[in-house]
Amino acid sequence: MSPVNLFDFDLAALTLYCERLGEKRFRASQLFQWIHQRGAVEFTQMSDLALSLRSKLSGVANIAPLAPRSEQVSGDGTIKWLFDVGGGNAVETVFIPEPQRATLCVSTQAGCAVGCSFCATGHQGFSRNLTTGEIVSQLWYAEHALRKRLRRDARVVTNVVMMGMGEPLQNYTALVPALRVMLSDHAYGLSRRRVTVSTSGVVPMIDRLRNDLPVALAVSLHAPNDKLRDDLVPINKKYPLAELLGACKRYLSAAPRDFITFEYCMLDAVNDSLAHAHELVDLLQNAEATRIPCKFNLIPFNPFPGSGLRCSPRERVLQFAEVLTRAEFVTTVRKTRGADIDAACGQLAGEVQDRTRVSQRSVRMALPLRVYPMSSAKHNPTAPERQETPA
Ligand code: SF4
Repeated sequence: MSPVNLFDFDLAALTLYCERLGEKRFRASQLFQWIHQRGAVEFTQMSDLALSLRSKLSGVANIAPLAPRSEQVSGDGTIKWLFDVGGGNAVETVFIPEPQRATLCVSTQAGCAVGCSFCATGHQGFSRNLTTGEIVSQLWYAEHALRKRLRRDARVVTNVVMMGMGEPLQNYTALVPALRVMLSDHAYGLSRRRVTVSTSGVVPMIDRLRNDLPVALAVSLHAPNDKLRDDLVPINKKYPLAELLGACKRYLSAAPRDFITFEYCMLDAVNDSLAHAHELVDLLQNAEATRIPCKFNLIPFNPFPGSGLRCSPRERVLQFAEVLTRAEFVTTVRKTRGADIDAACGQLAGEVQDRTRVSQRSVRMALPLRVYPMSSAKHNPTAPERQETPA
């Protein structure tokens, strides 16, 4: 029987596991702290655990984080890791340091089944869900690698955003335990305000998350009406705007923040006219049924081969932002970080080029990898923090 990977357990599951091994419950907290707070991957390192327990564990369990296949460091401090998740697939994790915070953008799936038209990941199709351990170990790796590099004992990553590859709410059973690990005081101790789940609009799962573990929520909107959103974000056909905004309203009753962040990818001559901006204002401010406290994050699109889409001119992005700002929505336009390493999620062309370079590297390593580039629209690792306010 293959060993159990303890990265797959939140504290409650690890406690049950320890009990099944005939151990006291508090042993689970000790193990959990060794793994997540102290970065241990060997049971022999766990000096305050009884030798008998350590040898018992080494027979049936392991601590197996993802290993990075590559690391790119930008001149602005942004770091992108590529993790091999087996089966020829790889996912990316991006670290964005800023003066007041350090954000990690985490992937939840290899590929994505939603198929948004502006998203390179969506164009790649879906391969598989990541496990809880694969989601958590992106944070584990970043945190402990950076602590060593920076010679720090204190926490390095202050914010996590589930805006990497994949639709987090379509991998709900792995996502929620991963969130619990991130929030646990015995692990990373992040507050619910500092962990953001970004969704394309999986309505029933927004409601489940509200009940189970309401962290900060970001929603990929991208259109002010169903007709257009059906084209851009196909899941809209199943969960149209009225249902999505209803779920957002319900979510706010439990959310750690009193607003929803709406992400809006600016696509030339598709969704970026002043009429679209006014329609958004009508939708989210003037219509009683869909009025919601919210912020907007406008994301300039970076075209990628085969998308058939172009980025809105800068002038139009600013005009669009001005309409929203005049309507008293807090509105920001995304700034790019890590452009020199293609690490700014949303640099689709760059990401696709990077995929090519990665496959070239993979050929050299005789191990073919399929890399899912991050989306330009949803995957915005510092939203709403990494922004510039329109003039
Ligand atoms: S934007 Fe997000 S939900 Fe849409 S296809 Fe890309 S990864 Fe999936």
